[in-house]
Amino acid sequence: MKKPFVNAQKLEEIACEFGTPFHLYDEAGIRRNARALLKAFSWNKGFKEYFAVKATPNPSILEILKEEGCGVDCSSYTELLLAERAEFPGKEIMFSSNATPEGEFRLAAKLGATINLDDFTHIDALEQAIGYIPETISCRYNPGGIMELSNGVMDNPGDAKYGFTYAQLAEGFKKLKAKGVKTFGIHSFLVSNALTELYYPQLAEVLFRVAVQLRDETGCDIKFINLSGGIGIPYLPEQSPVSIEEVGEGVRRVYEKILVPAGMGGVAIFSELGRYMLAPYGCLVATAIHEKHIYKEYIGLDACAVDLMRPAMYGAYHHITVNGKEGAPAVKKYDVTGSLCENNDKFAVDRMLPEIQLGDLIIIHDTGAHGYAMGYNYNGKLKSKELLLCEDGSVEMIRRAETPDDYFATLDF
Ligand SMILES: *Cc1c(COP(=O)(O)O)cnc(C)c1O
Repeated sequence: MKKPFVNAQKLEEIACEFGTPFHLYDEAGIRRNARALLKAFSWNKGFKEYFAVKATPNPSILEILKEEGCGVDCSSYTELLLAERAEFPGKEIMFSSNATPEGEFRLAAKLGATINLDDFTHIDALEQAIGYIPETISCRYNPGGIMELSNGVMDNPGDAKYGFTYAQLAEGFKKLKAKGVKTFGIHSFLVSNALTELYYPQLAEVLFRVAVQLRDETGCDIKFINLSGGIGIPYLPEQSPVSIEEVGEGVRRVYEKILVPAGMGGVAIFSELGRYMLAPYGCLVATAIHEKHIYKEYIGLDACAVDLMRPAMYGAYHHITVNGKEGAPAVKKYDVTGSLCENNDKFAVDRMLPEIQLGDLIIIHDTGAHGYAMGYNYNGKLKSKELLLCEDGSVEMIRRAETPDDYFATLDF
């Protein structure tokens, strides 16, 4: 059974004080999880997690992760500004973009971020944008084909827009070396929401072999290998979480099999996890404000797809519980909807839930990553506030809700 990270009475109090809807984050859970990740990779001296800012772009969250020893991975101008505001030093910022505007390269370079190039042509584009090539550069690799794990096809890198081919990588490394680059990194991101301990080790095996081959072919000094994001979380109640200890062990075994014998036992492992770091430690809390009985039974909430787009966009499952009715039998089948003039604005379809009364608090689970972040303003709907449940039990508003003035701020009217 999936339980909320906050108890029913506490949540009532929070809703009373702040009003719904809101995203609520669990500081204790975020810290506990970050520590477990670092421990699982503590065998690797240079290990660092660069949290993918796009998953939860709130500087208060970034600060918590910074205190736990994480850096940040940014992919746009504004995300770089968030990293700057949260006072990450340059060496703790990774910049992994694609189809990159010149101004973004300039800001990344100004902050001293490690730039992770997405394409061969970006070597010249970067040099043109900033007037030089930094001494440390990372390049993103796309192996093409299909990524298969023992439990079937996971994803189709050959169809993805990202990264260099191997031939481009070899040529690119030589070109970068000739331009004065001293420290090289390799990055790859092949599968999203991989709910298996095998993904990172298998990706590591691919990248470690590529690293050895590149070193042999180009003589470049490869200092870090970035396994990027992609570790999943159990959105469905019957799924189990990934064991991060096993993932760390799996990567260690491949490291000792491939890199250590090749004399590359000093290579640092990086990650850029987003979902794994935050998704379970956030929930969207809304009030049931409407019920409707036509051909189906509907419960309407004061939140909508503007607050959480994943169900509408991907048909993604998010577990729902009714506050205070966690133990009650799921006796009614509902569509749980928002108020957008879009029929896909449904948080759940044909979901068995306890009988819901108007005024009940509805908890939509696992919204801590790619939740608030994907929000938008369709129908003139305004984005909700973000609250942090602190370790000491207090609650802090870390972003207020949007107001109509925010909506009108960009209009010249
Ligand atoms: C989205 C993204 C991530 C994080 O992905 P998760 O699935 O949230 O772990 C990491 N790195 C890059 C470059 C990304 O685009």
